[in-house]
Amino acid sequence: MGETASVVAFKVDVDTYVGTREGIPNLLKILRQFGVRATFYFSLGPDNSGKAVRRIFHPGFLKKMMRTRAPSMYGVRTMLYGTLLPAPAIAKDLAEVIASVKAAGHEVGIHCWDHVKWHDYLPRYDKKDVARELGLANGAFKVIFGAPAQTTAAPGWTVTADSLEVQDSMGLTYSSDSRGRCPFFPIMDGRSFRTLQIPSTWPTMDELLGENGITTETINAQYLQLLKPGLNVHTIHAELEGNALKEQFVDLLARLAQRTVRYIPLGEAAAEFGVGAPHCELRMGYVEGRAMPVAIQSSAEGETVQPCR
Ligand SMILES: [Zn+2]
Repeated sequence: MGETASVVAFKVDVDTYVGTREGIPNLLKILRQFGVRATFYFSLGPDNSGKAVRRIFHPGFLKKMMRTRAPSMYGVRTMLYGTLLPAPAIAKDLAEVIASVKAAGHEVGIHCWDHVKWHDYLPRYDKKDVARELGLANGAFKVIFGAPAQTTAAPGWTVTADSLEVQDSMGLTYSSDSRGRCPFFPIMDGRSFRTLQIPSTWPTMDELLGENGITTETINAQYLQLLKPGLNVHTIHAELEGNALKEQFVDLLARLAQRTVRYIPLGEAAAEFGVGAPHCELRMGYVEGRAMPVAIQSSAEGETVQPCR
């Protein structure tokens, strides 16, 4: 493989009931059209989006979408789930949709049991709470796929040293919980972990839109500028690229098709780019365009930045 070839891995976060029911089939169709195999992370428990829908995407983004097509982006029902309407059980109700992702040749993993709960309460969780959430998710995952998950991706890129420790105990091949430059083994709060991290290297669409004058018309030119040789990891959402921002996602894939790009699921990226990965500090911090902190790869305390492979 030439040194200058660009490899792109799509990480698909599925946060909601509607994202599962509608966004997944839409994305499967688009990805098939472009011959892309991706990695999907499912929310498997109750959809309590109504409790936090304004926090999932940053306020500037929602404001912008309100002016354009917010009702089609999220739907009124999702905004009420867990509040005025009961929280629907995603894996229980939509097992066939979730199963169809693997049947279509994509890689599958756990996003969470309850997205809102993890995102809001993780810093207050002890190991038992984390193990309960991931255990419930893995139970639902096993019912659908017949085997435990090999990979997880934390909601909102929110981790703690305790959540990383529980993930270590799950025998995962790798996790994708962070933002950064290249695969690494995380060190957090002075604790070292053995589960390889494959960080997302690009900002998400909802982070870019509305920042620095970037619009749905100019966003893909921005992404093409970010495309670098080696591994690029891009997180997309079933709720956005699989729904209201579908056209922009198709346009991105059409533009990438003009370049020499190879697509691989994250599991193959772990095998190809994870060997000899450096140990790097992982800290919660802020990225442009997102209101809540995310896990960010940095160099270890007092050390210079270790090179990526
Ligand atoms: Zn999510």
